[in-house]
Amino acid sequence: MRAIVFEDRNVVAIQDRPTPTPRADEVLIEVHASGICGTDLEVLHGNYGTSAYPVVPGHEYAGLIVEVGTNVTDFKAGDRVAVDPNLECGQCSACKRGWAHLCENLGAYGVTVDGGFAEYSAVNASHVRPIGDMPYDIAALAEPLGCVMNGLGAGQAERANNALIFGAGPIGLLMAIGMRLAGVKDISVVDIDESRLAFAESFGFTGIAAQSTPLKTLRREVDLVADATGVPAVAANVIDYVANGGVGLFFGVCPQDAKIEIAPFELFRRQITLAGSHSLNHNIPQALEGLIAFGDDIARVVSHRMPLEGIAQVLDGNTPKGSLKIQFSRSP
Ligand SMILES: [Zn+2]
Ligand SMILES: [Zn+2]
Repeated sequence: MRAIVFEDRNVVAIQDRPTPTPRADEVLIEVHASGICGTDLEVLHGNYGTSAYPVVPGHEYAGLIVEVGTNVTDFKAGDRVAVDPNLECGQCSACKRGWAHLCENLGAYGVTVDGGFAEYSAVNASHVRPIGDMPYDIAALAEPLGCVMNGLGAGQAERANNALIFGAGPIGLLMAIGMRLAGVKDISVVDIDESRLAFAESFGFTGIAAQSTPLKTLRREVDLVADATGVPAVAANVIDYVANGGVGLFFGVCPQDAKIEIAPFELFRRQITLAGSHSLNHNIPQALEGLIAFGDDIARVVSHRMPLEGIAQVLDGNTPKGSLKIQFSRSP
């Protein structure tokens, strides 16, 4: 089979490999859709995960089961599934609290174990979820939407009447969609790219240009303010927009050594909660429900569907202009 392999730090290749044979507890998935995430680039650059090169990247994927291991009883060949990529140890104190995403020994398909940028992927049956007749490209959004839903739990989105998201890229859009699913009435997204703002408006969100007057009027007016850019200078402004009693959510992946200034008195006097969130905690079923509730229009978040060769080029730094979510597609 063909597979994208991170052979070493900053080395992307396409290899011909033997198709994996599922072990007793595994299913073999014919991958039909697999999304690129910013985390893939962090893995490639050695900034995230344990960087277990060589590794097949890709942790947002869905496909068709074509073979099952001898111990697998819950699934059979012909089942359509999405992958829950996190591999928690089950032993550490975080795991014992039910916080798989905070496991001290956390691994993941596509990060520490071969993942979804390949024609086939062997996955433990406990890490696949049935998707019914949902299109594969939509089902492959369950992982990033699951991360968003984990973040919105930390950000107490159900309390918010209004929300502001910095960054109208694929994850900012999915966050806006997650907020709507959580019942937030008034959702605005901020970006410097006008075409991204127009696209966000096509979903019914309010697009606001960075450093504009409409943005300034929202200072201290917003119940839930999220950074989905990972740009420290943007994250530094989050608190400015949070209303008294509100929440600032740090969702974007900033550089590990970045620092921002916070006035403790302001957090005290305005009773502001700062929340972080990492990855997802078995939110795939919840995300699949959300994808069904939102409807097929969500497929518009996927701007590019391409073969593995194209994905390898994107991972190598050649991102198409104007792209949102980019997916490997078996039949682009
Ligand atoms: Zn991801
Ligand atoms: Zn653990």
